[in-house]
Amino acid sequence: MKTDPIDRALMLRESLIQNDKILVADFRGTLQGEDTSKVIDLMPIVGTTDYPFRTKVNVKEIDPLASEKYETPFFDITKKTENEIEKFLRKQEFDFPLWYKHERQFNMKKVNFYNAPFTLQIAGCNFHTGNSSGGCWYCFVDDKNNNGLPGQGKVNLGINETIDSMLSARKKIVSQYQRLGHDTNLKVLRTSGGEPTIVLDWILNLWREIKKRNLDFVGQLDSNLSTATLVDYFESERIFEKFTLEKLAEYPIKVLTALKGVDDCNLQQNVQSVTSIEDQMYSLKRFVNSGFDIFPQMYNPDPKKLRNYLENVDNIIDNISLRIHIGPLKLYGPNSKRLTFEAQRKGVDEVKFIVDRQISWNSNYIQSCEIINNYLKEKYGVSYKEVTRSDVKLKVK
Ligand code: SF4
Repeated sequence: MKTDPIDRALMLRESLIQNDKILVADFRGTLQGEDTSKVIDLMPIVGTTDYPFRTKVNVKEIDPLASEKYETPFFDITKKTENEIEKFLRKQEFDFPLWYKHERQFNMKKVNFYNAPFTLQIAGCNFHTGNSSGGCWYCFVDDKNNNGLPGQGKVNLGINETIDSMLSARKKIVSQYQRLGHDTNLKVLRTSGGEPTIVLDWILNLWREIKKRNLDFVGQLDSNLSTATLVDYFESERIFEKFTLEKLAEYPIKVLTALKGVDDCNLQQNVQSVTSIEDQMYSLKRFVNSGFDIFPQMYNPDPKKLRNYLENVDNIIDNISLRIHIGPLKLYGPNSKRLTFEAQRKGVDEVKFIVDRQISWNSNYIQSCEIINNYLKEKYGVSYKEVTRSDVKLKVK
């Protein structure tokens, strides 16, 4: 069954925010928690035994502990020039630390400070029905943590608790690295999901408090690009203040805008929701027009439709195809479990079902990287990942 993304978001709003607290995933005992705590442990709400914070080292190669754990060659930034570091990072699967290149406090030699975001996860997504195989097929969130229902695997989180917990986790991680002779920090506060735009009012107040306390945090906000009309509606109904997006864009927050398909059919098959490319384009434009610096991550595009999509999106927002990165899809605990349930529901061989899906994801990824590379060379005279994304200027036409 496919969700209606707006109806589902309206329903989720009822449970995701209560008395100034939001409902977030508690990662203890979850498959996602296991997957993401291999280098840095899950982190608690300070003074409690609830664990709604995780981090993931984005570029393993530049982090001494992550490169050892994941057995990737260590790229020692202390021995590289700024140009070498930038060139290396922009080619990586996750170039996220470079998103902050133009922030006042950024320093290329301290890029590790931006490499492990302190992440909280809103416990509901409007693409997810709440059942055992809902949402995007490749979603790496455990289904129970993404169903919007209070109870086991969820915790209510306040603004000051979030900030205090990040400060406490930062202290611990900085000294953990220092003991081993490495310099790091925890600069990035990431509001992920689930779909964070359902609780943008809380996120705006979070950043007001960060500013009031004069903290040096920068932010990452994720969105599945289906909810700009919902934001408009919440503003008109005074659930959100007027100009919530514009007010939020005044803070140093970068937006991960997920492109989960390149035509309606591709999009709806990937996400199991009746969202549309029109909704996606409207949300993209709303973010850019509000003043946000956006970083589109594309997942499982249909290679046959990709070139047409790139031409169209460039006709709507200048240069945006230069900012698009295509992400490979991998099997983790939660998405393997989701696909297993689906195979059981269909009554087909589970192993073959999962292997076929992985083969199709890989093939779409490889073909699509080649297509975007050719397109960018023809249109802009540069290869895919040849420019640093934060250097590319965007403008809605
Ligand atoms: S939009 Fe994100 S959180 Fe929602 S189901 Fe898809 S991958 Fe999961």
